[in-house]
Amino acid sequence: MKKQENKIIESVEMVLSQIPEHVILVAAAKTRTLEEVKVAVRAGVKNIGYNYVQEALPIINEIGSNVKWHMIGHLQTSKAKYVAESFDWVETIDSWHLAKYLDQRCQMFGKIMPVLIEINSGRESNKTGVLPGNVDALVEKVSQLKNLKLQGLMTMGARFGEPENSRPYFQLTRSIFDRIAGMNLPNVEMEYLSMGMSNSYPIAIEEGANIVRIGTRLFGERS
Ligand SMILES: *Cc1c(COP(=O)(O)O)cnc(C)c1O
Repeated sequence: MKKQENKIIESVEMVLSQIPEHVILVAAAKTRTLEEVKVAVRAGVKNIGYNYVQEALPIINEIGSNVKWHMIGHLQTSKAKYVAESFDWVETIDSWHLAKYLDQRCQMFGKIMPVLIEINSGRESNKTGVLPGNVDALVEKVSQLKNLKLQGLMTMGARFGEPENSRPYFQLTRSIFDRIAGMNLPNVEMEYLSMGMSNSYPIAIEEGANIVRIGTRLFGERS
C-alpha cells in the first residue's frame, strides 16, 4: 500500500505541475478505494469526479466538503435528488428532461448548481451527450432555470487510439462553446470547458480546456 500510495502522490504532483494554473484537475475516481481517493486529496486534488451516484455517496460522506464533487457520468433523473444534495457540479446535462428535474431537486435544497452541458462531439449514437445541432435549443431552455447555472460544456472525445484523434472533437466543442458565449444569454456564464482524459489532456488544454478529468494517469490502470 505504501508503495502504491507514493505512486499516486507522485502522479498527482506530476500532473498538477504539468497543467497550467488556471486548469482545474478533476480526479476521475470510479472504481478507486476510499484510501486511494484520500491519498489523492492529500497530494493536492481539490476536485473529484464520479460516474455513479451510488459509488460516490459513501466516499463523499467520508471525505466531505473540503473538495468539490463533480458528476461526470450519465445522470438518471431518479438519482437527481442525491446529486442535488451531495454534488457541487454536474458536468453531464444532456436533456431538458434531466435539467428540469435537477433544477427542481436543487430548489428543494435551496441550492444553485453549476452545470455543464455534455456535447456528443463524435456524433456517436451509443454515446451520451447532446448532438451539436441540438445544443442551442437546450442552452436557451436551461438558461431559464433558476436553480441551475450554466457555466460551460463538457465532452469525452475518443477514449482509445491516438490522442491526436481527439483533437477535432475538442475543436468542435470549443467552437460551440465560443458561439454560446457570444449569445450573451442571461444566467449563462460560459467559463468552463471540460475535456481531456489521461491520454488526451495535453491536447485538450491546447484546444482550450480548463477542466481536465483524469483517472488512470493518477491512480494507475483500472482492474
Ligand atoms: C473514467 C473517466 C475519465 C478518466 O478516464 P482516464 O482514461 O482513466 O483518465 C474522464 N471522464 C469520464 C467521464 C470518465 O468516465
